[in-house]
Amino acid sequence: MPGFELFSDLERNEVNDVLENGVLMRYGFDGMRNGHWKAKSLERELEEQLQVKHAQLVSSGTAAVSVALASAGIGSGDEVIMPTFTFVASFEAIMMLGAIPVLVDIDDTLTLDPKAVEAAITPKTKAIMPVHMCGSMANLDALVKTCKAHNLVLIEDSSQATGAIYKGKPLGSIGDLGCLSLDFVKIITAGEGGAVLTNNEKFYKHADHYSDHGHDHVGNDRGAESHPFLGYNFRISELHAAVGLAQLRRLDEFVATQKKNYTIIREALSQIPEVTFRTVPEGGEESYSFLSFFLPDLEISRKVSNAYKTDGVDACFHYYDNSWHYIREWQHLKNIKSLYPISQEVKNGLAYLQTKTFEQSDHYIGRNISCLIKLSWTEKEVRERADKMVSIIKSVIL
Ligand SMILES: *Cc1c(COP(=O)(O)O)cnc(C)c1O
Repeated sequence: MPGFELFSDLERNEVNDVLENGVLMRYGFDGMRNGHWKAKSLERELEEQLQVKHAQLVSSGTAAVSVALASAGIGSGDEVIMPTFTFVASFEAIMMLGAIPVLVDIDDTLTLDPKAVEAAITPKTKAIMPVHMCGSMANLDALVKTCKAHNLVLIEDSSQATGAIYKGKPLGSIGDLGCLSLDFVKIITAGEGGAVLTNNEKFYKHADHYSDHGHDHVGNDRGAESHPFLGYNFRISELHAAVGLAQLRRLDEFVATQKKNYTIIREALSQIPEVTFRTVPEGGEESYSFLSFFLPDLEISRKVSNAYKTDGVDACFHYYDNSWHYIREWQHLKNIKSLYPISQEVKNGLAYLQTKTFEQSDHYIGRNISCLIKLSWTEKEVRERADKMVSIIKSVIL
């Protein structure tokens, strides 16, 4: 990860197809297109590869989460349970609909703790949204069970774990809805883009219409289409979809390359008894986009992270002090710094963030380092990197 490391003629040829006929929009202009429907083709191939009945492309991963929530009828005042460790997009997408993000602890999987989820359910809860961070997954069997018991919608955010598998199924295909991002730093990229995945006909129709101003997409005269309900514009362009199409066809190759590089580094780190690795739920196989491990305490983790930075071991993250991915530094959310008025209902719904602490999350994120696994490294580079990572940890621990 990311897929842009290996851009090739495959991506260029797909983009050129689009530029040659000049139709940059995914809908309409049937006569001009010369048979090129990049967004539609990418949707069909996503359905096949990720084993879902329907994929709806949208303009970003953040849009995918908002569209997924809206498609399931989630909005004003509804509570959505999400993890403390994720990307800011998770609460942004929830709040855009006037819904309330309810943050709960993660466990040693670095994703939602099913027990913390159970404890957070209220009569207002409508959905549970696990975020499969850093290439691995939440305990989906436990979350599916909870959703069934409480009649909740399960929305998987697999933006960082496209290509990972849980009990034989691709991530994103297991919940009522799945979301993925095709932004520039993801395992497969379209530059910008995202997708909503679902086996539910109704949710799919909602996503299809809602992401294009409510258009029903019946017939081939766009101007004559009707609007069964209000929508918005979260469309992807043909140019972006063209890049995404070439990248999706390389997903298996990318995962295999990551696995090779990940395994070399993991084997090297395994020699250090103080290093442990994130738990992958039973039946899960990572996408190997990151290697995530735990060190004995916060202080050691900070020292190792700093030494990695100064000694050129790039792309390793100690998320505890990070402002994008972890609750501790989300002051703008805690203080509801909004450009426009936020409803009293949401303000009340977020008041818990003033006082609630997340010791269990701190315990795991404080000791965690997650290192990006790149696609373009040579085997020699991976081995040198692994040696350097090991010797830095040893020098800090001793
Ligand atoms: C990247 C990402 C998103 C949002 O994707 P964009 O395409 O950048 O909007 C959402 N969730 C997670 C976990 C992500 O990593």
